[in-house]
Amino acid sequence: MHGDHLFGLYGLLSTLNLTGRKTPMNIFAPEQFGPIMQSHLSDFDLYLRYDLNFHPLKGDNPSLIFADKIITVTSIPLRHRIPTYGFLFREKQKERNIIKESLKEYRIPLVSIPGIKQGEDFITGSGKVIPNRDITTDPPIPRSYAYCSDTSYFEQLSQFVKGVDLLYHEATFGSELADLARETGHSTSIEAATIAKNAGVKKLVIGHFSARYKSVKPLVEEARSVFKDTIAAADDAVITI
Ligand SMILES: [Zn+2]
Repeated sequence: MHGDHLFGLYGLLSTLNLTGRKTPMNIFAPEQFGPIMQSHLSDFDLYLRYDLNFHPLKGDNPSLIFADKIITVTSIPLRHRIPTYGFLFREKQKERNIIKESLKEYRIPLVSIPGIKQGEDFITGSGKVIPNRDITTDPPIPRSYAYCSDTSYFEQLSQFVKGVDLLYHEATFGSELADLARETGHSTSIEAATIAKNAGVKKLVIGHFSARYKSVKPLVEEARSVFKDTIAAADDAVITI
């Protein structure tokens, strides 16, 4: 709920209103934000023509906050000066792909397809068992992304983001300001890299750099000394996973 993460929200809500949004908007934030949001909307005399649904985040454990056919989203409790949460996005496991030619070859009826996609073998009209691996291919491996902003270093975080393909982690300071990081509830780039290493992630993006750094190169270099596959976040960057 600090301004660097929040001040833009009212402008965004207002712009979407002016450009005709009708789809409901869902906002997930620490529970303390609910009343603040309502009071600011009325302070700014902002009457939205779409529904704004507020979902309070609370507690000290990761919690599933959204799921559909494709992904799940889990909130991750972080340790900052005020209640703060990160988010973990995970694709769900897709079904197996049926090899097109085998439909004809084994005369697979439509009714058998859902089971085969789940991994079942197929039994032909004459009773012959066709192993699933002969008629399907593996689905793509589900991808995952964790977003962790504004947090002190704490060991448990690496459990929460274990094995993700991409980890975004704040790195406000270099190691020369480790004391300041502790005081202000932030992390050094080495601490961000330590989380990435202990979690066994594939790639680390660091960001939320203190404005005192004219170049973030030293922060990236420090992080790389612990976790090699580290890059610095940049506006408009697109990272494929
Ligand atoms: Zn911040």
